[in-house]
Amino acid sequence: MRMLFESVTTNGVTDADRIMERIATSGLDRTDLRLRTTIERLAECGDRPIDFETFAELVGPELRMISRSFQRQLAIPDWEEFYSDIQTIYRNVAPDRGGKNADYIPILRDANPERWGVAVCTVDGQRMRLGDVDVYHSIQSVSKPLNYAHALVLEGADFIHRFVGTEPSGRPFNALDMLPDMRPFNPCVNAGAIMTAGIIASGSPDQDAREITQDVMNLWSRLSGKIGEVRYSEETMLSERATAHTNFAIAYLLQGRKGLPRDVDLHKMLDLYLACCSIEMTTEMLAVAAATLANGGVCPITGEEVLPTEVVKKTLAVMQSAGMYDNAGSFTLEVGLPAKSGVAGAVLVVVPNLMGFATFSPRLDDYGNSVRGVAFCRELVDRFTFHIYDNLSGGHTGCKRDPRASQHDRKERDLSELRWAVAYGDRYATKVRDLMLDCMIDVCLADGEIKEDEITTISTTYAEIMGQPTSRQELERWIDSRRSKNDGRESPNEEQGEAAYSQLLAVLARERSSLDDNGREVILESAFRVACSDGSIEEEERVKLRAIARALGISEGVLELEIARFQRRLLQR
Ligand code: GLN
Repeated sequence: MRMLFESVTTNGVTDADRIMERIATSGLDRTDLRLRTTIERLAECGDRPIDFETFAELVGPELRMISRSFQRQLAIPDWEEFYSDIQTIYRNVAPDRGGKNADYIPILRDANPERWGVAVCTVDGQRMRLGDVDVYHSIQSVSKPLNYAHALVLEGADFIHRFVGTEPSGRPFNALDMLPDMRPFNPCVNAGAIMTAGIIASGSPDQDAREITQDVMNLWSRLSGKIGEVRYSEETMLSERATAHTNFAIAYLLQGRKGLPRDVDLHKMLDLYLACCSIEMTTEMLAVAAATLANGGVCPITGEEVLPTEVVKKTLAVMQSAGMYDNAGSFTLEVGLPAKSGVAGAVLVVVPNLMGFATFSPRLDDYGNSVRGVAFCRELVDRFTFHIYDNLSGGHTGCKRDPRASQHDRKERDLSELRWAVAYGDRYATKVRDLMLDCMIDVCLADGEIKEDEITTISTTYAEIMGQPTSRQELERWIDSRRSKNDGRESPNEEQGEAAYSQLLAVLARERSSLDDNGREVILESAFRVACSDGSIEEEERVKLRAIARALGISEGVLELEIARFQRRLLQR
């Protein structure tokens, strides 16, 4: 307790603002129910000084959460860093104006196409909001996986799958195609979702479609931690029903071919399907719901078990194989995460065991998926190890970032191993050290000569990464030997510098396969530090770093994040 207190203290006292700020920088929200007592008490404190006894009393009832928040023990420990990285991606994607709004009903056609929001919630309830995350919109097909989950709870998998398949369809979401046994392909395309609505409706003969929808809305509300009101849009529902010709065709086909569960009324079935599409939520609410799925059905911010884990497991599997309609295969290939999109422009994505997120941008691609939403997902997995197969043991990820708690201390640990091994002449560690030095020197030599301040930078960078200094003579000897490779001249010209530099790239590319991610990263990082030692990153330096990254097999997206982080630090100074 002392330690916690001291971490927010100067001269033995603290105040409510400092404690609040500490909570906020760990990613927890002031509306978080798990901290309600603390937040309430802090609000009452005003700007009165808080001593140790008051602090202990204040946070006592929620000590576990406070301790995890203060000690960076949440799902993503380095929240501020992660926050800025996501912001970078959010901004990268914003200019993309490809695609167009769904136009089959006025409310979607007339929606502001410029809207762009991204919300994140981790399995520990750390939350992020960027852009239009408070705008209510109909959830449309995002309703499908939850209806499936709801049906699983009510009726069990055996009953459901007598009527609905589990195969990706490879067909547009509203296609009339069925599996050879006449079941619809899966619960995430219209035919399967309509059948799923039929299953739910058939189990509640005494409730009308709107009443059942209310049950589904309550489920959404619990799933999203009750952070906002789940609404229902009568206007959307009426337009949907007036234009649902294809969905009617699908319903009649289902009835004619396979028959409906318990002979449920076809109109009730369709009404329930369309009403669930007309539920309205915000991106922020959807992100929390996604996080509940990522967390095995337990809502991170209320702690309530909303869905059994077994149900969540099945739901995620279906989202993975069919959530993005006929683009689901390539989405899995590229992004590798269970996701579900809706034609109003939402995409809900689950990073199992880590976080959920949702994006909102109304312009859709040819598959009916939000263009910016999909672009965001792609950029995200290009930079972070979130693709399900990014964590193959022993494999290379292109040095993508892993913000997970379990990875947090890894870099330090790996560096200490490297340092220790270098000291005893370990072959691999020495190679990494040598390549690192070559790389730093050649980046400087590339413009012809190596300047005094560049030598200083190389030597500090070396000392920081290797944990011990190198002597000036040793460094000069090393520089000389690099120089002598440049035609043996004392002061090589720019052209020769370039030639040596491309040689370096060739060496890196050749050595790459024998380097692990950590080694690759150390080398790029040293070059990076040298390139920006003058306090800025010029375009030509960027080009050079990109080439080094490429030669080392490091994702350029990761490098871009590093550059953005560097520029952010400059701004903060
Ligand atoms: N209401 C829409 C429909 O049934 C939902 C489709 C979607 O979001 N892809 O056509």
